[in-house]
Amino acid sequence: MPFPRTHFEPEHEIFRDQVRRWLRDNLAEKVGKWREQGHVDRDDFRAFGDRGWLCLWADEEYGGPGIRDIRYDQVLQEETIRWTDIGFFHNAHSMLVGPYLDRFANAEQKSRFLPGAVSGDVIMAIAMTEPGTGSDLAAIRTRAEDKGDHYLLNGSKTFISNGIIGDLFVVAARTGEKRGQIGLFVVTADMEGFSRGRHLKKMGLPVQDTAEIRFDDVRVPRENLLGDPVQGFAYMAECLAVERTMSAISSLAHAQAAFDITLDFVKERRAFDRPIGAFQNTRFVMADLRARLDAAQAYLDQCVVLANDDRLTSEDAAAAKLICSELQGDVVDAGLQFHGGAGYMDEYEISHMFRDARIARIYAGTSEIMKEIIGRGLGLGERALR
Ligand SMILES: Cc1cc2nc3c(=O)[nH]c(=O)nc-3n(C[C@H](O)[C@H](O)[C@H](O)COP(=O)(O)OP(=O)(O)OC[C@H]3O[C@@H](n4cnc5c(N)ncnc54)[C@H](O)[C@@H]3O)c2cc1C
Repeated sequence: MPFPRTHFEPEHEIFRDQVRRWLRDNLAEKVGKWREQGHVDRDDFRAFGDRGWLCLWADEEYGGPGIRDIRYDQVLQEETIRWTDIGFFHNAHSMLVGPYLDRFANAEQKSRFLPGAVSGDVIMAIAMTEPGTGSDLAAIRTRAEDKGDHYLLNGSKTFISNGIIGDLFVVAARTGEKRGQIGLFVVTADMEGFSRGRHLKKMGLPVQDTAEIRFDDVRVPRENLLGDPVQGFAYMAECLAVERTMSAISSLAHAQAAFDITLDFVKERRAFDRPIGAFQNTRFVMADLRARLDAAQAYLDQCVVLANDDRLTSEDAAAAKLICSELQGDVVDAGLQFHGGAGYMDEYEISHMFRDARIARIYAGTSEIMKEIIGRGLGLGERALR
């Protein structure tokens, strides 16, 4: 039995039950189709919107339920992964992109952008990474030139999640000559000069559409600038703590699911006249993973509580992402090994999980960058050493 989780209230469990039943009865059967076509359907976002499950934090005046409690987002994400697929990125829409609108959009911008995001008619994405840079965001080259009533946007982005089905992109672009002078702009796919590049083929995560996008002299109205034109870097740093917590939630939910699949398998599969789970090696590895999963879950749940109070530090979020994504990698690897040859076969879920998990140590900040953030918090950053 997993270690009891104490940060949920009875109403979260009621919500979990509703979400679970709906996903199981309505979306679970679509996973095969999603994998084949390389993206979820727009209707899947709308169905989430119909249930009030997109941008839970959005206030009623924009059509949302106004629930500012990340435990609900955690439940949604855990159940999505358990019953459908980790590549259904409604979570990126609501909790990675959405917070930029929540925190930095003015009232007029919110009234323009939020209703569609809440209903699921508008699918959102975030565009930071470029062909030339990812970890070093201050070095981006996409440029937004101030032309008075509009900004002229030029450049290209890559590896953008929801890049094919997305309608609204929060785009990071240079607005000044100094390194790190970045602004954030809302760019919609219908703007002249916006184009999508390749739908990128990946080793895993086939359900999530990852794409290149380009801006050729896109005239972005001044009204689409979020907040201060040179504070984008600070804004990104502010939002990345929640993004990393959500990423950790996905990793751990995925790891828990992979563990359960593997546990069932090692109890069933027999070799040398006994279940393979009866071998000491299997038992020890599974016991070690169970203990690490429980410890990680307790840490992550506490991060969720802190994030709810706006008290989660960048270092704590980085640690959550680091621990959970590395553990996810260990669980799917051990899980595949215990499946033997079957684990390498497409028809076994663990093979998908193995491939889908690999990206978690890279996106939303690599494990090395997470260690940098934690290390700097210890006073071991370059500046402290000099
Ligand atoms: C499937 C997928 C979806 C994605 N979705 C999005 C999205 O929606 N929006 C978006 O903007 N981006 C997205 N990304 C991009 C992702 O966030 C970047 O790939 C990631 O941040 C790493 O950047 P990079 O690929 O440029 O690698 P690099 O920054 O070039 O890093 C390469 C290697 O160098 C290491 N390294 C870099 N700097 C340091 C350092 N200071 N110290 C030690 N090691 C270092 C890294 O850890 C890594 O191992 C996505 C990527 C993928 C694959």
